[in-house]
Amino acid sequence: MTAKVLVVAEHRGGRLAESTAKCVACALELEPESLDVVVFTADADELAAEAARIRGVTRVLEARDAAHEGLLAAVLAPRLAELAGRGYTHVLAPSTTFGKDLLPRAAALLGVGQLSDIMAVEGPRRFKRPTYAGNAIVTVEAAPDRLLVGTVRIASYRPAEPSDRPAPIEPWTSSVAPPGHTRYVRLDATRTGRPDLQTATKVVAGGRALGSAERFELVGRLADALGAAIGASRAAVDAGYAPNDLQVGQTGKVIAPDLYIALGISGAIQHLTGIKDAGTIVAINKDPEAPIFEVADLGLVADLFEAVPAMIDALEKRAGRGV
Ligand SMILES: Cc1cc2nc3c(=O)[nH]c(=O)nc-3n(C[C@H](O)[C@H](O)[C@H](O)COP(=O)(O)OP(=O)(O)OC[C@H]3O[C@@H](n4cnc5c(N)ncnc54)[C@H](O)[C@@H]3O)c2cc1C
Repeated sequence: MTAKVLVVAEHRGGRLAESTAKCVACALELEPESLDVVVFTADADELAAEAARIRGVTRVLEARDAAHEGLLAAVLAPRLAELAGRGYTHVLAPSTTFGKDLLPRAAALLGVGQLSDIMAVEGPRRFKRPTYAGNAIVTVEAAPDRLLVGTVRIASYRPAEPSDRPAPIEPWTSSVAPPGHTRYVRLDATRTGRPDLQTATKVVAGGRALGSAERFELVGRLADALGAAIGASRAAVDAGYAPNDLQVGQTGKVIAPDLYIALGISGAIQHLTGIKDAGTIVAINKDPEAPIFEVADLGLVADLFEAVPAMIDALEKRAGRGV
């Protein structure tokens, strides 16, 4: 069976997210006959051109409409379902907040199930995905004759290479009117100036041990000294020390930085599932028995309120010396 794949592009701030090229990398493992990328956008921006420069893309469909501002799943899902019905065998989107919001709605409208968190392709209908918080990997076989709607675990893929021969871009207009019940008003987002948690190469994360939102700022100070993004355990989020979008783990974000520094995080399995693909894991915890030390490449048994200021001092001195 030949695959005709549709990848839904993710973007923010006028730039294509790296997750799009990672989804394309997953789609290429299907050895597709064609690989289209649909870009839902509100403006005449460069997004479609960016998508066209990803190697392996056959065609970019630019779906431009004022209703696409804010990329609301309620607006996009019926339109994606309409497009998906046009002969595609697979529809893929990243397993990020964007894809996890959009794809189940589209799958429901198409009357099919959704395959979540594809981490490897074994054949056009055979995939590997994590289960039990990443403690087990299952191989699943999807029905042969139905449209496959799936999210791609982006921590498992490297972005597809850029191409110097851009794919053609075609406009695509949906015949589905926007829903009356949901519309985009505005986005209230905190601008931290720090790297994005899901794509950062370095992440400093704090746990319950930080004890308050004020003291959690210590995590931010170390992150800034390293040029890193900030993450948090669920306990820290639930206690209100850090915002929800910083949560790393099973019910938070799955990340794959080169360096992950865990401050006062015990290392519960639900947290570890979010950092399975991290490169070097560094843990600071005052309990030598903390499970985080079982996965850490470097561990320091210490009180973080003593160790972290000392680290920040050392980093600042080093930066001051221009080393
Ligand atoms: C269905 C489900 C989903 C979940 N999803 C997630 C998820 O996505 N992400 C997540 O993180 N958790 C998740 N959890 C919660 C998870 O089980 C843990 O409760 C949570 O990760 C604990 O967070 P923590 O390590 O910050 O806190 P704790 O377990 O309380 O650990 C705090 C650690 O800090 C250390 N410490 C204390 N003081 C200091 C100090 N001064 N200096 C240094 N170290 C110190 C302690 O020794 C301890 O190890 C989930 C749970 C369930 C049931």
